[in-house]
Amino acid sequence: MTGRWVIISTERQKRPNVFRIEHVTPLGPEHCPFCAGREDLTPPEVLAYRQNGTAANTPGWDLRVVPNKFPALMVEGGLEREAEGMFDRMNGVGAHEVIIETPDHDKTLAAMSEAEIERVLYAFRDRVVDLKQDRRFRYILVFKNHGAAAGATVEHTHSQLIALPIVPDFVREEIEGARQHFTAKERCVFCDIIKQELTGGQRVILEAAEIVALAPYAPRFPFETWLLPRRHGSRFEEAAQQEYEGLARVIKSVLMRIDRALERPAYNLIVHSSPFSEDTAEYYHWHLELIPKLTKVAGFEWGTGFYINPTSPEEAARVLRDARV
Ligand SMILES: [Zn+2]
Ligand SMILES: [Zn+2]
Ligand SMILES: [Zn+2]
Repeated sequence: MTGRWVIISTERQKRPNVFRIEHVTPLGPEHCPFCAGREDLTPPEVLAYRQNGTAANTPGWDLRVVPNKFPALMVEGGLEREAEGMFDRMNGVGAHEVIIETPDHDKTLAAMSEAEIERVLYAFRDRVVDLKQDRRFRYILVFKNHGAAAGATVEHTHSQLIALPIVPDFVREEIEGARQHFTAKERCVFCDIIKQELTGGQRVILEAAEIVALAPYAPRFPFETWLLPRRHGSRFEEAAQQEYEGLARVIKSVLMRIDRALERPAYNLIVHSSPFSEDTAEYYHWHLELIPKLTKVAGFEWGTGFYINPTSPEEAARVLRDARV
């Protein structure tokens, strides 16, 4: 789809338990800015799902969204490109928010109930729907870093959302690949992938009514997992209620399988959805990508944009299918 090559290097194949896992060093809830009762340590909330009658920025919430205290981008100023000598630059217009998924300091996303995970998905949707009204934004990336090795700096479980004034290259590559497939075949490449993978089955991890979890044909990383809705749709925020419900169930099951098979690794979870400003409805297909942090990106990858993966997708899918949860 993207034109990217991946080397599945089975001589380097590692058993799941041979990956060196960097565990999170828990800092404890004493100074955690995301715990209930510490609402004054974060900027005021932009969204909260609260128990009846509790006031904003006080305890009594089930989920809370706040602006990032140290944003990568800020909603300020207009969007303009300016020249500085031979370089172009753009001011850092954007939004950076943190979704605090639960008031419980010790719960991981994998340990949350399906209903709680579903609530997190609704928060993603609600914030995207709100922020896309700002015409300066072209793309909103929703992602989760779990564990220090995956970039999490606060252990209390949370996700992040960054609204960008441009469409990122990785998303662009996927959209372009999907568009070319559609031009040639008049079909969505993701729908084709789902159909073909469900026929073969070797790379399928989990098959639910609404959502399919699979190891992609050319995974960049060991145990890379894609979660795709069976029903074609280009925008995450326009998914149906039963799709969020199904997705919550599949996220929980896949995370538990990964925890079981790989000794609770750090991971990144990324939502891929259509940019707002483009009509990709026919050919793009929203999905989630889950990448356990088991290997390091090194010189070859940086130098080429290609990847060396020591675990074949068939082996990864088998291990996760067979994991007892
Ligand atoms: Zn906490
Ligand atoms: Zn599709
Ligand atoms: Zn993707």
